[in-house]
Amino acid sequence: MNWGFDNTYARDLPWLGAAMAPVPVPEPTLLYLGESLAEDLGLDPGWLAGPDGVRVLAGSAVPEGAEPVAQAYAGHQFGFFSPRLGDGRAHLLGEVVDRAGRRRDIALKGSGRTVFSRGGDGRAAIGPVLREVIVSEAMSALGVPTTRALAAAATGEQVWRDNGPERGAVLTRVADSHLRVGTLELVRTQGSVEQLRDLVDYVRRRHYPHLEPGDVWGLWDEIAARQADLIAQWMSLGFIHGVMNTDNMALSGETIDYGPCAFMDRYDPDTVYSSIDTAGRYRYSAQPSIAGWNLARLAESLLPLVGGDPDEAVETATERVNGFAERYAVAFRAHMSRKLGLGHVTDTDEVDRLVGSLLETMRRRSLDFTGTFRSLSRSVRDGGAPVGLEDWVDAWRPLLTRPEETAATMDAVNPAYIPRNHLVEAALDAARQGDLRPFDELVAVLREPFVERPGLERYAEPAPERFAATYVTFCGT
Ligand code: AMP
Ligand code: MG
Repeated sequence: MNWGFDNTYARDLPWLGAAMAPVPVPEPTLLYLGESLAEDLGLDPGWLAGPDGVRVLAGSAVPEGAEPVAQAYAGHQFGFFSPRLGDGRAHLLGEVVDRAGRRRDIALKGSGRTVFSRGGDGRAAIGPVLREVIVSEAMSALGVPTTRALAAAATGEQVWRDNGPERGAVLTRVADSHLRVGTLELVRTQGSVEQLRDLVDYVRRRHYPHLEPGDVWGLWDEIAARQADLIAQWMSLGFIHGVMNTDNMALSGETIDYGPCAFMDRYDPDTVYSSIDTAGRYRYSAQPSIAGWNLARLAESLLPLVGGDPDEAVETATERVNGFAERYAVAFRAHMSRKLGLGHVTDTDEVDRLVGSLLETMRRRSLDFTGTFRSLSRSVRDGGAPVGLEDWVDAWRPLLTRPEETAATMDAVNPAYIPRNHLVEAALDAARQGDLRPFDELVAVLREPFVERPGLERYAEPAPERFAATYVTFCGT
């Protein structure tokens, strides 16, 4: 099969990684293939599912035209700078231009040790790999910018993790790029100004080609705008990324690096699922301010390229970083307005008041986040009100102009189905035992999150109390 690779990263930034092939595995077998994504990429799903294809998807063969590279990057992890991270268990195979003309990275994760592996084994376990498939594909169907999962392949090898041996697996990830805030931090701290300029111009050409070369603040503004909207979408869906280190923030504006992420059940702004986030740095409610913090690191990385008076440059950077909160507030309001059928209301204070009082009531009553929003359109249709929200509905309903249409537009943004934590875990447990049916069914349901279908009621229900009270996610290594 001709992949049509055209590898600008390997060609233009050869110093920003290490050329090296994935490490072959004993027994590649296919666990998942995103057939329509494959077609969008101009790839033949039949070939990918065949023996030659599966060998590529497991890292045992390098396809023609690929130039595998482990990418170098740095990053602030939980607030502390790690000068040398890089792909310790991932290989960028190369780039293809998809049918829509969009350049996409094709990368393997869990594909063996690299020069950046430090103590790690370079591998990934089946649980976290299939988790990334479920959640990233769900996010895509929800309309959130995200990396995609093209495939998952089992390796036939065991990997050792905290709770013993697990089946090894490799994820094939598709992204607009894998450039991160941490990529710039690496070059800012260890590269030359020329290299930093080359990298920044590469970012511009690849993601923001309408900008003039050298327009450093224009680039920052564009990246910040995409992040503001991205985080607003996460917040409006109850999504918690879990590990928003600067190496996990993509310059393209995609959600990247699904580790301990999870969707919130009961609304509580302090929700943290990740086992390693003991201080709650990346809790639900902190995500907007953390995005601002990460964008401050981005601004610092860009400073050497800003000409003129250095003090003035710092001042400009500070102003921009301080303006992020307002940028985010505007984006969040826009998404919440749509969720509540208030797109036509121009009084922003009124929208903010309604959103605020709804969330406050949801918090006090521990209401299910996803289910509550979905039930509001139902209440528009039947004239009732969700339990506990009667007063709020009385204040909200008079603002709706055309209730029937409004209910339909609300249903188009308030999902009926999200990856419910208990269903994700059940699907992964079955997959670990060799039964992929619950995983396949869950992925299929989540392809169409906004269309309620009879027979799928259990996919819309929150986790049982006992499960929800103790749920913890792991970093997925
Ligand atoms: P993450 O928490 O997945 O964003 O990863 C943070 C860093 O740890 C990255 O540099 C990864 O490549 C590296 N890493 C995570 N797991 C492994 C592993 N099993 N082997 C080698 N490197 C790893
Ligand atoms: Mg990462």
